[in-house]
Amino acid sequence: MTALSEQVAIVTGASRGIGRATAIALAATGVKVVVNYAQSSGAAEEVVQEIEKSGGNVIALKADVSKTEEVDSLIDQTLKTFGRIDILVNNAGITRDTLLLRMKLEDWQAVIDLNLTGVFLCTKAASKVMLKQKSGRVINITSVAGLMGNPGQANYSAAKAGVIGFSKTVAKELAVRGITVNAVAPGFIATDMTNDLKADEILKYIPLARYGQPEEVAGMIRFLATDPAAAYITGQVFNVDGGMVMA
Ligand code: NAP
Repeated sequence: MTALSEQVAIVTGASRGIGRATAIALAATGVKVVVNYAQSSGAAEEVVQEIEKSGGNVIALKADVSKTEEVDSLIDQTLKTFGRIDILVNNAGITRDTLLLRMKLEDWQAVIDLNLTGVFLCTKAASKVMLKQKSGRVINITSVAGLMGNPGQANYSAAKAGVIGFSKTVAKELAVRGITVNAVAPGFIATDMTNDLKADEILKYIPLARYGQPEEVAGMIRFLATDPAAAYITGQVFNVDGGMVMA
């Protein structure tokens, strides 16, 4: 087992929200962290500074993870800086919400490109490195919308359901090489993504009657990255949703 201080994690979309909390939580375990972002260089730099203040080892790398060349560069730069990749958290995501009949092909495509194709691109590129190391953890952020659907989110729920099928298949393909692949399905979490939603309506459907905090999702992600505690878990979906979905 590689010592925590030798391990390297890439968190996509780590400048804000759940990704930010995840980068901070993983760094607190001693893991070296790559804070990926697309545009918010200032916010990413703040995450870097916060981690460094606590003694963590971290870099920020800009890359649009829906683009093959940028993903390849993200992986290359990670390897040049830290030499390995142990944990990949596919967290970057966007919404383009509107009802089906008003949904433009661009709204559909943008969400599929990042939320599903981005997960494919990053997992494929990082798993090549993990296969050589014969170990690795891939943690994909899906959503309760991918489990139960959500009006106005045909694009988003299709992408998130796709992430679940993808995670199960890749978990089966990579298990023999010591790589686990799991998915985390948050409910409503207080981030920029949910800022504009009408909380009163939503809270009716959440048994715990509040939004979750990014740190509460990060806790599950950190657990799934932990050795040996989570070493025998693969191909699973873990809901962090205040009880919204009870199977
Ligand atoms: P958020 O606060 O809106 O943050 C999104 C993050 O993704 C930002 O760091 C953003 O970087 C990054 N990003 C956007 N486009 C990108 C791209 N093309 N390449 C790389 N990074 C990109 O979102 P969040 O609420 O934390 O959501 C994180 C994940 O959890 C998403 O996959 C989301 O679908 C999922 N989720 C969220 C909730 C919720 O209630 N919040 C519920 C279920 C699932 P920049 O700052 O540079 O734009």
